[in-house]
Amino acid sequence: MENICKTCGDCCNHIAIEIDKPETKDDYEDIYWYVLHNNVNIFVTENDEDETENECWFIEFITNCSALNEKKLCNIYSKRPKICSNYDPNCCVKSEGESEEIYRFNNAQDFLKYLKDKKNIIL
Ligand code: SF4
Ligand code: SF4
Repeated sequence: MENICKTCGDCCNHIAIEIDKPETKDDYEDIYWYVLHNNVNIFVTENDEDETENECWFIEFITNCSALNEKKLCNIYSKRPKICSNYDPNCCVKSEGESEEIYRFNNAQDFLKYLKDKKNIIL
């Protein structure tokens, strides 16, 4: 892919961690609590690799890395954490290869609407 990373730096402005897909009332309650917090989001992508589990759920913290400079370059490039050096830009949402987000909850209202649409009255 064209090296769009040089003018981007978006992946250094958040942390996303995979979480278990919610199944119980308590799981949904936890997610409701997460998204009540500012700068904490949940997003869901399709899982192409596991036929038994068709969704991947992630919690996302919007927070910029202190090593990212004004030019959107890494100040500690040669000593950056392994998770950064292992990251494949082809898996980035800005590339064509990445799974599309199927849901995104950037606040509690988004999540409550999802539950209502799913008729999953748990709260
Ligand atoms: S991997 Fe994606 S989000 Fe990260 S800098 Fe490159 S284009 Fe931007
Ligand atoms: S250490 Fe460097 S590559 Fe890793 S998130 Fe921070 S700025 Fe980005």
